[in-house]
Amino acid sequence: MPLDQSLPVPFERPPLPSLMRNRLRPDVLAMQRYLVQPSQGLLKMDAMENPHRLPLELQQLLGARLGALELNRYPGLRLDDLRAALAAHAGVPQGFELVLGNGSDELISMLAMAFDRPGACVLAPVPGFVMYGVSAQLQGLKFVGVPLNQRFELDEPAMLAAIMQHQPSLIYLAYPNNPTANLWDEAVIDRIIAAAPGFVVLDEAYQPFAAKSYMGRIAGHEHVLLMRTLSKFGLAGVRVGYLAGPAALVRELDKVRPPYNISVLNAECALFALEHSEVFAAQARDIVVQRVVLQAALAALPGVETFQSDANMVLVRLAPFAGSGEDVASTVFQRMKVRGVLVKNMAGFHPLLANCLRLTVGAATENQAMLNALKESLCQAIQ
Ligand SMILES: *Cc1c(COP(=O)(O)O)cnc(C)c1O
Repeated sequence: MPLDQSLPVPFERPPLPSLMRNRLRPDVLAMQRYLVQPSQGLLKMDAMENPHRLPLELQQLLGARLGALELNRYPGLRLDDLRAALAAHAGVPQGFELVLGNGSDELISMLAMAFDRPGACVLAPVPGFVMYGVSAQLQGLKFVGVPLNQRFELDEPAMLAAIMQHQPSLIYLAYPNNPTANLWDEAVIDRIIAAAPGFVVLDEAYQPFAAKSYMGRIAGHEHVLLMRTLSKFGLAGVRVGYLAGPAALVRELDKVRPPYNISVLNAECALFALEHSEVFAAQARDIVVQRVVLQAALAALPGVETFQSDANMVLVRLAPFAGSGEDVASTVFQRMKVRGVLVKNMAGFHPLLANCLRLTVGAATENQAMLNALKESLCQAIQ
């Protein structure tokens, strides 16, 4: 019998390494994984997590509520309740609606997807939140990082020039910024908003600890979005972020959202937390008090420069000392880790962050342990 011509010719599929090399995106192959630092047995002061847990009584109430959910059903109308509760909590102005994300990280990816047109560009000051650049790159958008000045303030002429040159579709301004923790000059932000040819996203992830917010000032703008998350508020494990924007725009953005991105557990947990928002507000107040205490103690340490913080983190720059080696931040980071305290080594993230560590503000006893570990690590005699 003649062979059926339509049958595929036998072939040998290459082994996995070459198959991956031939089929996966080269930029993905070249990427580094997002590194979650192993933290077992360490005091975790690297990721701006709220040190406080729910009081026991609330844990039990929440457990009962989560247990009673219809886990067999896809998330549904309860998400309308969540959007309404978040809008009320945050004071979202009339005419603005919310898109929900599985953390702000997902919203940032969704924005990159929604604005992915040929030649489109995302612009943000650097050093800043890494996901702005990562999400742009993964989506194939150009990312333009505009360096802050030496004091980590916005470089207004450089920002305005870059905006003119690159005509970004999206500008991210984290308010306060991560990892520098400061709030930028409002007058400069206003001029950037005025100059933006596309949209501006104000990322207020650290709003619970900040003296100021843009929420009261976005109503007059049709090209300004405001993003928040419940992560730094105290629910980093729950994964709920939200983006407020003019209703017409939000409806478009919502089209790129995976339809069931917020699980029934996430939604109910977030609703529960908002019903008990005074508990979280008290936690945030404590963290702000502890930040002041920590800042004062850090300022008293010789060889440690601290920067203004409106977040639950403090950026410090270390002066090299005898025995610190070339890379003082890495030396001190390692020594602190040996002493059981995990912070974030920012050296290598950006030239402006040379010799810098980022410390999360925790509870009083945690901050004291972190300070002790830092002090000991700065001492030449101790290896
Ligand atoms: C932590 C952080 C976020 C958000 O994180 P999610 O946990 O994904 O909500 C967003 N922006 C900045 C600047 C952050 O530091």
